This record gives sequence, structure tokens and C-alpha cells, in this order.
Amino acid sequence: MHLSEILTHLGEERQNYFNAVSPPIIQSSNFAFSSLEDCRQAFSDELAHHIYTRGNNPTVEILRKKVAALEGAEDALVVASGAAATAMAVIANVKTGSHIVCVQNPYSWTKHLLEDFLPRFGVGHTFVDATETAEIAAAIRPNTTVLYLESPNTMTFELQDLKACAALARKHGLVSIIDNSNCSPIFQQPILHGIDIVIHTGTKYLNGHSDVVNGVICGSKSMIKKIFEQEIMTLGNIISPHDAWLILRGLRTLELRVKRSFESGLKIAQWLETHPKVDKVLFPFLPSFPQYELAKKQMTGCAGLITVFVKADRIGQVEAFFGKLKRFLLAVSWGGHESLIVPMAAFYNVPGRDNPPYPFTLVRIYIGLEDPDWLIEDLAQALEVL
Ligand SMILES: *Cc1c(COP(=O)(O)O)cnc(C)c1O
Repeated sequence: MHLSEILTHLGEERQNYFNAVSPPIIQSSNFAFSSLEDCRQAFSDELAHHIYTRGNNPTVEILRKKVAALEGAEDALVVASGAAATAMAVIANVKTGSHIVCVQNPYSWTKHLLEDFLPRFGVGHTFVDATETAEIAAAIRPNTTVLYLESPNTMTFELQDLKACAALARKHGLVSIIDNSNCSPIFQQPILHGIDIVIHTGTKYLNGHSDVVNGVICGSKSMIKKIFEQEIMTLGNIISPHDAWLILRGLRTLELRVKRSFESGLKIAQWLETHPKVDKVLFPFLPSFPQYELAKKQMTGCAGLITVFVKADRIGQVEAFFGKLKRFLLAVSWGGHESLIVPMAAFYNVPGRDNPPYPFTLVRIYIGLEDPDWLIEDLAQALEVL
């Protein structure tokens, strides 16, 4: 289906609501039946009917249809956060005694799920350098049930060869799951490469306006039904109809936003790479990126996220550079309209916390929708202090 059809029309039954162009927010916890027979019918398949908003709400359902189509998946669920999407997809495919193979240094709360939460229920894991598919193969045990991927990875953007990973998972009977938040479905569709489940933090690009926290899970009809009936209905992990409506509004401009963010990101990454005060720049579409060829093979773009190592011997120098910036906000998250910066130095010397495993010269920049030249001007004047 054409991307424009998905973003503009799919799932929208306008004749049912006065031909309104924007769908209604069906702010109702429950739905009445016209007969006992209708009621019986609905209870036979809660995901396909409207009974109760912890299950299937009509506004959320429009969003589910669009998100599934964006990923080329049969079905999708929308949940309370990206972290919840990861947890639901993983928990649905493990039991006591299971083992998970996961990429090294995944998103921080994915790491917590595997390191601190699942061991309480007897589920083990191995983190591997998944830039080499052979490393994944070597970590698979007889009790491994899940292969968890994140490509590009958080912070340093390592990629996994999705076709090879999908084939490996199939061969060993594992469920393959990927966090596809960085590329968004505009630049990478892992299901087309054979991956089983795609999750996103919809907080980032899908919603794109820094005003809703949510997550999505995409997969086959049977996998989505399984997760819905067990994890979603039992743990009550849903979003409100109002939040679903805001995300629908965000999706109208998804293609425009991610392309702008990528193109500006590439321009700024190229500029940073030639700057004398910069040691190294990581961005998957720079020819200097170690997996540039794989990036071009399986992605058509990437997030406007850039990791920069500035030239500094002391943490105070990074602080001075940071203090000069005027057009970037210091904030976590990314994928919104606004450009952000998070210097690793902010995580150094935090009371009660170990220093991070990255040098203090690392600075993560997110490029939003502003004019890239206007952002470069700001970076240029701030880099002068180094
Ligand atoms: C932010 C983020 C998440 C978590 O999403 P939330 O909506 O904040 O729970 C997961 N994966 C990646 C890559 C992220 O950047």
C-alpha cells in the first residue's frame, strides 16, 4: 500500500462519523451491544470487536492499522511506552528457564529488563557484539527463545545484518525482535527482511511532537493476538484514546519530518566531521562509518542522531562548549521537532551512580526540524571555546 494512502486514509471510516476529516476521540471505557448474539460474537474475539477500552478502542484501532501497514506487518498493538513495547514482546516469548540473546548496549531500559527484571523469573540472557552474525550464532543455547536486536543501536549506532539475523533465528526456532525506533518505518522495514516482531518507541518519531509517551508492537496476526490476550489484557498496558488521537495527528507528517531530520542530520554530521575541534563523528550514512555499506544495503536513511567526540582533555572544556550553545535544548529523548543535546559529561560525577562506560568527550546531538544552517551557526560558535 502506498505510504500516502496509509498516512491519509487507511483505517479511517469517515462515513461513520459525519465525514469528519479528523477522526473522533472515542472517549468511552465501554461499548454497548444491540443483542445478546452481538455480545457473544464480540467475546469470541475481543481484539476484533469493541467491548472495553483496555482491549480495543476505535480511535486506538485506527492507529493500530496505520502502524501495522507502515511496517508491512499483519497487525499491531499500541501500548503505554516504548519500554512497555519491548517488555511485552519479550515477556510473551519467554518462560522460566528461557534464555535471550541480545545486542550489546541496547537502549538502557531494555538492558534493565534483561539484567534486573527477568532474572527474578528465571530468564537468562547473553549480550553479544552483533555486528558479527557469527557472534550471535555462538551465543545461542538449547534454551534460547528470543533474539533481540536494535539496529542502529542507541548511542554508537552499531548495525546488525537483518537478513542474516532473521535466517539464523528461523534456523534455531527463535523469535526475532527488533527495536526499529532509530530508522522509523520510513527508512527500514525489518519484517520485509524476515524479522518476526518490530517494536518502536512511538514517543520519538511516530508521534514526533514531544507531547506523548507511547510504544508500538508489530507482527503477525497470531503473534499480536497472543501478546494481546496475555500480556496486554493481563497487565493492562494501554494508551488513552486522546493520546492515540495525538499520535494520529503526528503521523500525518511522519514522512516529511523524518526525511528533514535525516537530511539535516547528514549535513551537520558532514560539517562536524571536517571541524578541527572534533575528533570523531558517528552517523550511519557517513562513508567513514564502519558499517556504511550495510547501512546503504538495508536502510534508506536514519535518525537525525549524531554522536560526536569533541577534542577536550578536561571535562570543564566540554562544559564550556556546552554552555555556549543557545539553539539546542539540554534534554533526553529525541524524534521531536526540537534539536537536543546530551553531553556524556552530564552523567559523570552523579552522586550514587557509576560514571558511564563512554568518555566525557562524547556528545549526542539530535537534529530536529529547524534550519540546519542556523544550527551549524550555533555549533560553530560554541566549538570555538575548545
Ligand atoms: C526512547 C527509546 C526507547 C524507550 O521508549 P519510551 O517511549 O521512552 O519508553 C526504546 N528504544 C529506543 C531506541 C529509544 O530511543
